[in-house]
Amino acid sequence: MEAGGVEADVVEADVAVVGAGQAGLSAAYFLRRAGLRAGTDFVVLDHAPRPGGAWQFRWPSLTYGKAHGVHALPGMELEGGDPDLPSSQVVGAYFGRYEEAFDLRVLRPVDVAAVREGDAGRLRVETDRGTWSVRALLNATGTWDRPFLPYYPGQEGFLGRQLHTAGYRSAAEFAGLHVVVVGGGTSAVQLLMELNEPGGAARTTWVTRRPPVFRDTPFDEEWGRSVVARVDDRVRQGLPPQSVVSVTGLAATGAVRDARARGVLRREPMFDRITPHGVAWPDGRALDADVILWATGFRAALDHLAPLRLREAGGGVRLDGTRVVRDPRVHLLGYGPSASTIGANRAGRTAVREIRALLATGGPAPRPGPPAARPKAPLPPAPLPVAAG
Ligand SMILES: Cc1cc2nc3c(=O)[nH]c(=O)nc-3n(C[C@H](O)[C@H](O)[C@H](O)COP(=O)(O)OP(=O)(O)OC[C@H]3O[C@@H](n4cnc5c(N)ncnc54)[C@H](O)[C@@H]3O)c2cc1C
Repeated sequence: MEAGGVEADVVEADVAVVGAGQAGLSAAYFLRRAGLRAGTDFVVLDHAPRPGGAWQFRWPSLTYGKAHGVHALPGMELEGGDPDLPSSQVVGAYFGRYEEAFDLRVLRPVDVAAVREGDAGRLRVETDRGTWSVRALLNATGTWDRPFLPYYPGQEGFLGRQLHTAGYRSAAEFAGLHVVVVGGGTSAVQLLMELNEPGGAARTTWVTRRPPVFRDTPFDEEWGRSVVARVDDRVRQGLPPQSVVSVTGLAATGAVRDARARGVLRREPMFDRITPHGVAWPDGRALDADVILWATGFRAALDHLAPLRLREAGGGVRLDGTRVVRDPRVHLLGYGPSASTIGANRAGRTAVREIRALLATGGPAPRPGPPAARPKAPLPPAPLPVAAG
């Protein structure tokens, strides 16, 4: 299938990687290392317009220097990233170089609309640019496409502006305004600090459901392992993954300590309703506000997998490592315990090891059905990776 053409026929490949963020590119790298050819043996499908995964959409004021702990992709260091440039630019350019260096042949923009049971034990990957029939699926679609907005009574009647962090661009947009920031995560803390810089909001109010816990001790490796183990435990039970901050607490960096000392991070309990002009609490207190900024996080973008019925009664997808327990042809990367740049790298490696074993054994027993359509000639075979991993 031509990257630019609309193709009605079904194209066969061994593996489809959906999403070309940290997790998808890591998986593609390990697939190549395992000897699979990009564009023929496996395809990487991504609906974003450019390289960079979700990083390309992050607000411009989230500079590379402010993003904490962005781990390089496997096999190629992220060197010389200017800490004053937006992360979107630094990481986007790096991902672009990476895709080229390893000739990963990401097809974009290709939107995967649905993955469903195909013929002969294969999976059918339906997109706006044609259909693929594959033996295994590495899903790495992240969370950016599913911002989470809770509902509060009166929300629809608010006369000010409401936005989610996904739509935030810069503090200057809020100059002179009173902004209520909702949410107890790292994004809320970073945006509160930014909104309180000169030229930002006239006033901010921070509301969270639970009192925030600031962690002064360093996030060392042992602590990191215990956090991942706790998130992993929930995912193994088929429960929705917890937010990382609910497990780690908030990092009390120098800037955060300073902001706390200045009263910028004084927290109020959650309001219980929204009025036309602001927010109100159960004790009758009310505040006028111009803006409600929902820093309420994201959910895993898995809607396209709905036909496979992977969810458990607990609401999550039960995983063993990265493998979906209900369907061993499917792996979720960047989900739950692997939802960090370092976790995504590891998930790519683990999943590819298992997928190789699955492909070597011929995969799950074929189900009776008509033979799959003959494959069209796809992209030419890719040369071996040019950089060592
Ligand atoms: C504001 C913010 C800051 C963060 N900062 C850090 C940090 O400093 N360090 C850190 O380790 N982690 C950080 N994280 C977590 C971070 O998101 C992950 O670590 C990592 O970047 C996620 O990579 P990913 O590959 O799982 O997902 P993404 O980068 O989201 O990539 C998913 C890709 O899948 C594509 N996609 C989605 N659905 C479809 C579909 N149906 N069809 C085709 N393509 C699809 C998307 O377009 C995207 O390109 C941050 C998260 C946020 C929200």
